[in-house]
Amino acid sequence: MNYLLGAKAIIELLNSKGYEAYIVGGYVRDYLLKRKSGDIDIATNALPDDVSNLFTKTINTGLKHGTVTVLHHNFSYEVTTFRTESVYVSNRKPEHVIFIKSLKEDILRRDFTMNALALTKDDEIIDYVSGKEDIQNKIIRTVGDPYLRFNEDALRMLRAFRFVSSLGFKIVDKSAIEMNAHLILNISLERVIKEFENMIKGEHFLAAINDIIETNFHLYLPHFKHGIINIQKTNFIPNDFIEFLAICAVSDSYEIIESLPIPNFIKKEVKVIYNMFEVEILDFTKPLIFRNGLNNCLVVNKLNVFLRNTNDQAKTIIEDYNNLPIKKQCDLKFKGDQIIEFYNRAPGIWIAEILDDIILKVILGELDNDYDKIKHYLLNK
Ligand code: ATP
Ligand code: MG
Repeated sequence: MNYLLGAKAIIELLNSKGYEAYIVGGYVRDYLLKRKSGDIDIATNALPDDVSNLFTKTINTGLKHGTVTVLHHNFSYEVTTFRTESVYVSNRKPEHVIFIKSLKEDILRRDFTMNALALTKDDEIIDYVSGKEDIQNKIIRTVGDPYLRFNEDALRMLRAFRFVSSLGFKIVDKSAIEMNAHLILNISLERVIKEFENMIKGEHFLAAINDIIETNFHLYLPHFKHGIINIQKTNFIPNDFIEFLAICAVSDSYEIIESLPIPNFIKKEVKVIYNMFEVEILDFTKPLIFRNGLNNCLVVNKLNVFLRNTNDQAKTIIEDYNNLPIKKQCDLKFKGDQIIEFYNRAPGIWIAEILDDIILKVILGELDNDYDKIKHYLLNK
């Protein structure tokens, strides 16, 4: 049983009880594009309770929104009752939905024509909005009036940019985005960040950045706007979210990162990178690589290359890192408690000074990482 066949089996069971059911959303788009897809979403006129009762393993994922997760042969499927959405508040998805009987209405609430197709269990495509044609022409077009659709849910604008990045498609009505761009300020930073994290993974990231600037959308992304401008200016393609945050920080100030709802370990990494870039580290010595870590040094080097036009030193940084006799302090063969024993003194910060000295000598190749040799060195110090 593969993932798609499992979905068809679910649809078949729903059909056998007299319900309609289709695969919808991103899976159908990716199916037509022959791309690897994420989750399969199924839409049905069965109510959530009917879906829960019909299958043995279900999770009530979002009953309020009509979604039940069905587990089938170790795969999971989101089965959602056909619905329309009530009044939009603060340019975001409504809290309440209204269940409906027709697929068509469910299709019409969807964001883009390419995401508004349905697939039957017999591989037939149902297309009320010319989504197939738009996919063929690589076009991102809203279902219905673009101004209204971006206005009622501002997140759709970011989704459009994210699809530009992942699919390389073109947005047809950018002026509708420009007119509504300011509404992105009503969307939570968590949602904005999530879209950016996905956008960075796309193969056409710079095309998305160009569209963001063309529509003046960046003006309403206070944390990222200076970074975005520099990305466009220099064609810097971030490999991951940390690199994206790093260019945003060095293009503005570290404070913009501090206020973001992201894990502390990411903030810490960006701070190390920011500080190294600020003091204009151009020479990546072995002690510096040891102290700051390989990845942070590589990011600073990349920022130097793109923003300061320096020579790329990535190769030597990696070589020097690989040749380091120790990668972490705990790799040292002479431990802190052995130092205390050796000097027979009460613990204190003096240990760190001695350790730093030993580490430096070991890293520079002036002392072997060997217990006896280090002891000998301390005896003669
Ligand atoms: P991905 O491949 O990244 O998962 P997706 O199109 O499947 O892309 P999802 O967020 O999984 O995106 O949403 C599933 C479907 O729900 C979409 O294809 C679209 O039909 C609909 N949808 C999602 N977000 C919105 C929105 N903000 N407004 C209208 N419809 C939406
Ligand atoms: Mg999806």
